[in-house]
Amino acid sequence: MAKKEYITVQEALTAVLDGVQVLPTEHVPLLEALGRVLAEPVTAHDNLPPFPNSSMDGYALRAADVAHATENVPTVLRVIGDIAAGAIMKTALKPGEAARIMTGAPMPSGADAVIPVEDTNEPWRGRERPLPTHINIHRPVKPNDNVRHIGEDIQAGQTVLQAGHALRPQEVGILASLGIHHVPVIRRPKVGVLATGDELIAVESPLTPGKIRNSNGYTQVAQVLALGGIPISLGIARDTENDVRDKLQAGLDANVDLFVSSAGVSLGAYDVVKAVLEHEGNVSFWRVRMRPGKPLAYGKYGGIPYLGLPGNPVSAMVSFERFARAAILKMAGHTKFDRPQITVTLQDDIESDGRESYIRAVVEKQGDAYIGTTTGGQGSHMMTSLVKANALLIVPENVKFIAAGEQVTAWMLDWPEKVF
Ligand code: AMP
Ligand code: MG
Repeated sequence: MAKKEYITVQEALTAVLDGVQVLPTEHVPLLEALGRVLAEPVTAHDNLPPFPNSSMDGYALRAADVAHATENVPTVLRVIGDIAAGAIMKTALKPGEAARIMTGAPMPSGADAVIPVEDTNEPWRGRERPLPTHINIHRPVKPNDNVRHIGEDIQAGQTVLQAGHALRPQEVGILASLGIHHVPVIRRPKVGVLATGDELIAVESPLTPGKIRNSNGYTQVAQVLALGGIPISLGIARDTENDVRDKLQAGLDANVDLFVSSAGVSLGAYDVVKAVLEHEGNVSFWRVRMRPGKPLAYGKYGGIPYLGLPGNPVSAMVSFERFARAAILKMAGHTKFDRPQITVTLQDDIESDGRESYIRAVVEKQGDAYIGTTTGGQGSHMMTSLVKANALLIVPENVKFIAAGEQVTAWMLDWPEKVF
């Protein structure tokens, strides 16, 4: 891509996504597959259920035998067996016979339905109850009533999950029921996280004059973790090209798939990240018409995609949210990179400067509609407004003012239960 300086959010996003590829497949133990994306379709080798079984505690019988049963004139059947879950009854039911059966136990041959215990003269559950010799049936049942059929949920040979499917607990459960204990998934992206700045000290250190703690390093490691990536913390680089190079080398040694750094990409005298990229890698763009987050460098270092985020904590977090998130999700095999977006009614006026703006806000449900209220101080150093927010309201490019009462799009950061 030609070196561009000042591009739209959409152009920047396209360039970032073009620069990263879906990572290779690995086979992991089932529980490690949670949150990951399936790399290959999964085919069932077994039927589910694997055998016909009862969906009730009751009596397996032949429906034709009880066609005229009523509570006043019950049909009396001879009880020839007791089938617990996990057991098999070898004898087949003959006309006039029944077998007590528990939920999940295999249907005996000869039986075609189950009557629940509640509809007999033995309305008690459990195996402790002595097995009666005869049972009174109080109502008719239809063939197949309360029987779960073989392959009713999944048939052997069927493709159960497609490649690209993101695995949630319910998919883990299906895979477990099919005996699939190692799963082909896309590898987790490894992301090298670097903070840069002479003013930065480690969070463990007491504040000294002129210094601040490296919060970005933590925010970005947390963001990588929240997306299912593997963060590689590269620590703090001083504002010299040499130190930035040294710290990035540790990332190359760790085989990161993406670099994310903060600060050092604007026009200050000590903004060395951009210089390192220009001298030893390449820069595809370094400014985006976005607020917060105008200085944003994208390029490659040592052949690895590199996102140089702004230094201000809010700008860094929001531009990670918009760009690094998409890159990480794409590498991990996902195909949707945007957060859910809804239309909300704005509660207070917002101003912008014509750049696409992401305004920190609280979105709440009010009746059937959603309302969005900005969270106050929008300075790009003010973290508390992000802590209060559950959404970013998007002011489109070239719009400088939106009045309270108008509709805006909210980019939902999360859906807290206490609000929805
Ligand atoms: P810069 O992009 O280097 O001009 O930094 C912009 C602002 O972000 C400055 O106020 C920095 O002190 C601040 N900043 C830079 N890096 C960090 C960091 N890792 N944690 C917190 N604040 C930072
Ligand atoms: Mg700086």
